[in-house]
Amino acid sequence: MALIVQKYGGSSVADAESIKRVAKRIVDTRRGGHDVVVAVSAMGDTTDELLDLAAQVAPIPAPRELDLLLSSGERISMALLAMAIHSMGFEARSFTGSQAGMMTDGTHGAARIVDVEPSRVREALDEGAIVIVAGFQGINRDSQDITTLGRGGSDTTAVALAAALGADVCEIYSDVDGVFTADPRVVPRARKLSHVSSEEMLELAANGAKVLYIRAVEYARRHGVRIHARSTFSSSEGTWVLGGARLAELAAEGDQMEEPIVAGVATDLSQAKITIIGVPDIPGKAAEIFKIVAKSGANVDMIVQNVSAAATGRTDISFTLPKTDAAAALRALAAEQADVGFESLVHDDQIGKLSVVGAGMRSHSGVSATLFEALSAAGVNIEMISTSEIRISVVVRGDELVEAARVVHTAYGLDGGDDATVYAGSGR
Ligand code: ADP
Ligand code: ASP
Ligand code: MG
Repeated sequence: MALIVQKYGGSSVADAESIKRVAKRIVDTRRGGHDVVVAVSAMGDTTDELLDLAAQVAPIPAPRELDLLLSSGERISMALLAMAIHSMGFEARSFTGSQAGMMTDGTHGAARIVDVEPSRVREALDEGAIVIVAGFQGINRDSQDITTLGRGGSDTTAVALAAALGADVCEIYSDVDGVFTADPRVVPRARKLSHVSSEEMLELAANGAKVLYIRAVEYARRHGVRIHARSTFSSSEGTWVLGGARLAELAAEGDQMEEPIVAGVATDLSQAKITIIGVPDIPGKAAEIFKIVAKSGANVDMIVQNVSAAATGRTDISFTLPKTDAAAALRALAAEQADVGFESLVHDDQIGKLSVVGAGMRSHSGVSATLFEALSAAGVNIEMISTSEIRISVVVRGDELVEAARVVHTAYGLDGGDDATVYAGSGR
């Protein structure tokens, strides 16, 4: 008998029928003789709808109130799911994040889990109940206020519960069969990976592959939780996210062919680019600028500084950041324009970021040449480039991102035979 933690995303519990389907799946696992703890997301696009609603009553909603509002989405689905399980003749008990002992820091909207005290969850399990926990939320011990963990945060709830309870596996259910070589909504020829290393998954998640939330992958790696990403809508084996050591064991057992150089391609339309034109080309200016940007709360990703034109002694600096951070960063920079001495600001929110990820890049050359050749053959212009040890990212025009992803996917030999299945969801 195993202890299994399962997480069901919004598209898996979008309506009453779906909730009953999930309830059946949970009950089947229970019938198999296992203890089951479930983390559940809000129904369908509820979180987006609540955010839209908040924006209609306040331009900048108070963070404490917004977290209370958003946490209600997951409470609706947890209670409905418990009811559905009851009506199938099984004992189920639902808990909010705070009742389940998810203790977080006080950062509203992006809280970090600092401790998990799942005594009520254990008690319910001991009494033979199936436990349902509202995902994406916790409580700050100091303020006693409800917090949320950031978009996609129900994945982290599941992994944190799995770690605290010593679960055998953490199954993350969504509307696709697992982690693919690209988002199947963008690249229909994407292939499901049978396994992916946690370091590759971290890079994919950080660069737009929302099938698993980056903080959940991080948490799992730190606490040794085994993640199995799979579909609510089929029983096929999904993707295992494994640590490097386990992958090496598999390779030694001959379970695995040689790793491909590139694991996958990620796409991201959520960033904007700000260019600061005419920055005096003297020491200290970059420091000044990025101090201002940091103070505005923006999370900078790529940075490019052009060579200055010798005659003017001035240069341009471009950087990317989440679209949602751009307004605050622009305001902060404009306020300091005279002090810093730059000429003007340009805001561009029509960019797309394409990333190629693979641990094999460490030991193989020519990976970037393949990327650049594929983009050039498709007539896609590259505006910015950045790399890590196992990733190459480029910024292109947003309306060319889909085409870029498809040609690059083909160029690395990642295309599968049939189109991938997307079972549900709006992709929002
Ligand atoms: P849930 O609501 O269940 O949490 P998400 O919408 O957060 O589900 O994540 C699933 C979606 O992630 C898929 O429908 C797919 O469009 C998208 N996705 C992006 N990149 C990938 C990838 N590499 N593999 C699989 N799905 C991906
Ligand atoms: N409901 C939250 C969101 O939409 C959390 C989650 O689904 O993981 O972001
Ligand atoms: Mg998700």
